[in-house]
Amino acid sequence: MPRPIYAEIDLDALRHNLNVLRERAEGRTVWAVVKANAYGHGLENAVKAFEAADGLATIDLCDAERARRCGWKKRILLLEGFFDETDIEPLQTIGVETVIHSPWQIEILKRMNPKDVRCHIKVNSGMNRLGFLPVEVNTVYDQLTALKGVRVMGVVTHFANAEPSYLGDAPASVGKQLTRMGRLANGETAACMANSAGILWHPEVGGNAVRAGVALYGISPDAHISSEELGLIPAMTLCAKIIAVQQIAPGEAVGYGSRWIAKRPSRIAVVACGYADGYPRSMPDGAPVWVEGQIAPLAGAVSMDMLEIDVTDIPAATLGSTVELWGKHLPVNRVASACGTIGYELICALARRVPINVK
Ligand code: PLP
Repeated sequence: MPRPIYAEIDLDALRHNLNVLRERAEGRTVWAVVKANAYGHGLENAVKAFEAADGLATIDLCDAERARRCGWKKRILLLEGFFDETDIEPLQTIGVETVIHSPWQIEILKRMNPKDVRCHIKVNSGMNRLGFLPVEVNTVYDQLTALKGVRVMGVVTHFANAEPSYLGDAPASVGKQLTRMGRLANGETAACMANSAGILWHPEVGGNAVRAGVALYGISPDAHISSEELGLIPAMTLCAKIIAVQQIAPGEAVGYGSRWIAKRPSRIAVVACGYADGYPRSMPDGAPVWVEGQIAPLAGAVSMDMLEIDVTDIPAATLGSTVELWGKHLPVNRVASACGTIGYELICALARRVPINVK
């Protein structure tokens, strides 16, 4: 028998979210970003649910191969491009488009002389992670198009701060990045710039394509704005059962390090979810879980396979009760902010040992 923990994945929610983003990005190619096992939702599930997307974007060829095996026939894009010579052959046989972000990749293409490689030139418009400077793009374009088997599909760039809460005085705002893109993003060039936040909050971002990630999974890219406000439905709900209940006296401690100490006679429920399932060990006392229609606080350090919650005030929470760690009732961003991270990190870190139930 499997442990009583599972992540429920709602395919209709994924489809719904894709429709929401499609409407926002009307007339443009929508790449569904499915890296990190579709943000923890299972690549196979994403392939099914994102049938109506124009393409899948991921970061490695293994994902591309898996998607093809699941029957994905449309375009696939490698967001970080290829990593070495051995990738060139599979790029062509699997039929995958690649980002080109560095001179060493151009050197590999020159050496390998491929028959049919489709490229997107990555532009560093201010994030300073990957890409060529806007002034270098013409030269890169000339170098690539001089190769007979290489086709340039357009330019791509990535925003560092497209979420309303993060804009502030950031050195790389969407406006500043768009200014740097200048002529490259003015509509004459095929450009793919917007991520989820760009799609949701920056209608001024042009281009002929977008790359939608976290919002497809029903999660707001900005922790201060709810999914509901955006019309998105969370697709992943992580649940585990209460497997034991302890009645403890004031002064007794719970868990490793005796971090949580009872101030009153307390009912402590033990939940079958630990850090080896992807629930962060850094979660502090008081972090929320949802059980029997109420929020209960985490009590004590998260162990490898279990965590404890204080259910003194929730008599209905008992042996066998289902606890939602995040999902439909408890936004993952709220849980993530309790331990100083973002929802993205929690969903992507869902451990492989957690069974996925598709709804
Ligand atoms: N494009 C690139 C290059 C990315 O790295 C990512 C995600 O990190 C995305 C698009 C999707 O971003 P989001 O999940 O915020 O929509």
